[in-house]
Amino acid sequence: MTAKNCLVCASPTTQLCSGCKSVSYCSEAHQKKDWKAHKEYCTKIKEAANTFDAILFAENETYPRLIKVPWTLQPGDEYDGPMHKLDHSIWFKRPHSAVRPQYVPRWGLLGEELEHPLCFLFDDNFEVNNSPMNLCVQAVTGGRAGHRWCGNMLALRMGESYDLFESADMEEDMKPLVKYFEEYGKVIPGEYSG
Ligand SMILES: [Zn+2]
Ligand SMILES: [Zn+2]
Repeated sequence: MTAKNCLVCASPTTQLCSGCKSVSYCSEAHQKKDWKAHKEYCTKIKEAANTFDAILFAENETYPRLIKVPWTLQPGDEYDGPMHKLDHSIWFKRPHSAVRPQYVPRWGLLGEELEHPLCFLFDDNFEVNNSPMNLCVQAVTGGRAGHRWCGNMLALRMGESYDLFESADMEEDMKPLVKYFEEYGKVIPGEYSG
């Protein structure tokens, strides 16, 4: 399923929320029903000057969907290069959330380098703040994930450096992400020699 499914009932629909233009609802009734949950995101996206598309693996949803993440560019100085500051606060709200990037540069753990290297953000303090197991990762891997990912996760493409990002593409980027989730945390034949 894609973003063209109603966020409430998953029916196919062509109607986008007119505020953020990034989530779909089948009807006014379902839009109203979701407004309390959607309001913060909608307002933030409407006001954002720049956004990237990211693939959201919501902890309590069973299919990934494209969302927008606001960003600002912090110019480089003599020590560091330029850096995208992502505003992902909506998705990581638990106490002591520690959002960390996990880089996915290749197909699985040992395969070819990806044309568009990926990165996903997750809460590395999930054990401290009791984040639930991520149902979306479970669903896309058919329960074959090698690691127990918890809390929300957001995937983007890497930019020219570790501090720069680009929009994700649902069509192209899902397969390498699923492959990574399947292999990460398992011992892969050939990974260790001797
Ligand atoms: Zn609906
Ligand atoms: Zn909206």
